[in-house]
Amino acid sequence: MKIGVLREAPAGETRTALMPESVRALAGLGLSIQIESGAGDESGALDADYIAAGAEIVNDKSALLNSVDVLLCVNRPSDDDINRVPSGSVVIGFLRPLDEPDEMVPLIERGVTAFAMELIPRSTRAQSMDALSSMATIVGYKAVLLAADRLPRMFPLLMTAAGTIAPAKVLVLGAGVAGLQAIATARRLGAVVEAYDVRAAAGEHVRSLGARFLQVDLGGIQTEDAGGYALELTEEALKRGREMIASHAKSADVIITSAQVPGRRAPLLVTEDALSGMKPGSVIIDLAGSTGGNCAANKPGETIELNGVTIMSPLNLAASVPIHASQLYSRNVVAFLKLLVDEKAVLKIDLDDDVVGPACVVLKGEIVNSRVAAALETTTG
Ligand code: NAD
Repeated sequence: MKIGVLREAPAGETRTALMPESVRALAGLGLSIQIESGAGDESGALDADYIAAGAEIVNDKSALLNSVDVLLCVNRPSDDDINRVPSGSVVIGFLRPLDEPDEMVPLIERGVTAFAMELIPRSTRAQSMDALSSMATIVGYKAVLLAADRLPRMFPLLMTAAGTIAPAKVLVLGAGVAGLQAIATARRLGAVVEAYDVRAAAGEHVRSLGARFLQVDLGGIQTEDAGGYALELTEEALKRGREMIASHAKSADVIITSAQVPGRRAPLLVTEDALSGMKPGSVIIDLAGSTGGNCAANKPGETIELNGVTIMSPLNLAASVPIHASQLYSRNVVAFLKLLVDEKAVLKIDLDDDVVGPACVVLKGEIVNSRVAAALETTTG
């Protein structure tokens, strides 16, 4: 069985789907691995490293695609690339099936089987395959470094011969995986941290990291679904959160926003009003830009300045830490691939498996995920 990896095509993408250490693991299972030349260059994995790990380096991309059984990728391959893989082959990567359901059509028409890494359930069994958490960990960490770099102050409390320097105040909105890593990183740098999340369960995690958890009376409504994800709030509940945020934004030096509701636009948390009350020189890192952003003036992918407040909305922060992002992603992908391969190194797809089934979007050209099918129906009519 042939596993193929292309050089990632999107501009600014530095990650690769398979690092040499993972090639070694797959070769040990009896799989043969072909890597497009240069695929790992930006992640610190050179062609020679792949060869040493047991892979074959291929210069002819078409040849690789034409004979592949499983194509591993970070981003969804281009339509042109999808049209060159054999019908019946498998594609695994961040396919964005719920955000861009109509982009699933080329996979359906090509008759492939496609697995979306973002649909792997957040269950205990699937923890080693949780690529969303891997990337969110990096994003939360890097967001704090970006803010610290931009802020015209230092983070820690310092007692110097010239007097005391007060610590920076950081407000984190959304305490999921990225938010918690942002809290931990800001605390390590010495900041005083406050955080808010609609899920009461997040309070314990926030406090365990030495930050203060901000609570809002949301009127006793349900804020969390059975899977632990936030639900979309009522306008009244959102308003109460925004008012609390506006009052804490006045004293914040840094705000990091990471609030998301799966399948919905990101909730607006930092309003124009809150922005106008912030101190000049303060910095906002809006991590929800890909779903519209949590901050009123946010421009996804851009850095803007408004009344002296810097608002940054990076869209692919994980790619700014390519070695570790690729290492984690590649381990997640290999852990998942092991569920699809039997002991004789033959592909065996069991949709009754509680990880394989939910992650499968398309099975041999048939759409099998009901949420994606509904989203596709809505966009294409
Ligand atoms: P996410 O990216 O979907 O959202 C980020 C955070 O934003 C969440 O904590 C959410 O509650 C919060 N949020 C949404 N609307 C908000 C609002 N209006 N105001 C304030 N905050 C708001 O979340 P995620 O990081 O992907 O994590 C989702 C869930 O999955 C969490 O419960 C997390 O603990 C859980 N999880 C479980 C596992 C596991 O058990 N293996 C692994 C990872 C995550």
